[in-house]
Amino acid sequence: GTDSPVACISLEDVSFGYEEEKMVLEHLSFEIKTGEQVTMTGRTGAGKSTVFKLLLGLYRPQKGCVKIYGQDAYLLPDSIRRCLFGCVEQSFKRVPGTVLEQITLSDPMISREDAVEAAKLAGLHEVIAGMEQGYDTPCTDALFSQGQWQLLSIARAVAAKPSILLLDEITANLDVGTEQEVLYALRRAGENRTVVSISHRLYEKMGGRELVIG
Ligand code: ATP
Ligand code: MG
Repeated sequence: GTDSPVACISLEDVSFGYEEEKMVLEHLSFEIKTGEQVTMTGRTGAGKSTVFKLLLGLYRPQKGCVKIYGQDAYLLPDSIRRCLFGCVEQSFKRVPGTVLEQITLSDPMISREDAVEAAKLAGLHEVIAGMEQGYDTPCTDALFSQGQWQLLSIARAVAAKPSILLLDEITANLDVGTEQEVLYALRRAGENRTVVSISHRLYEKMGGRELVIG
């Protein structure tokens, strides 16, 4: 009806292919409401990660429209996009610099306090604070364990306090002990946010609506 609030995310009859003659998504429509927790499932190659790229406005669909709070995703300014989305991927992309810079990516809009808050939410603050140089420790490949890198990527994703969290297969390589820690971090990170995850065992355990792609 007219008084229903605008959807957080909506796809309206979207068809998209990286190449014109080879469509990946065809006539895809769905809506995700603000604060909803949704898991996308579907066979490998179905186009789940492609949906994320469309949400992030990296491509424009050949047909239909991807909308974020009613605005065309492809036309959103980068500055707004960064406030809207936090992304966690399977592998952490380390940048040169300190632990702090891993979290802030040197974004002047993200304060040290924001970074500490994000690390606390991810369950990594104690570990970082326990280092001799704390958040100013130069970051090397050996500094964190595999699970801790994943927690660090969660901290990075929430540092700018995004309203939408996108999680792409993030627990695929974790052992059972670490998985639990990441699960707790994700629960905290997902509070008061819209969360769209791509199927992985962990998030399925957490429930949320299933959205089948393909
Ligand atoms: P998986 O579960 O394996 O991660 P997925 O559902 O995430 O799969 P996508 O990565 O979205 O699938 O890929 C969908 C299709 O688009 C595949 O056929 C893939 O080869 C193709 N594809 C993905 N990225 C590109 C690209 N940058 N250029 C061309 N084709 C691409
Ligand atoms: Mg994928």
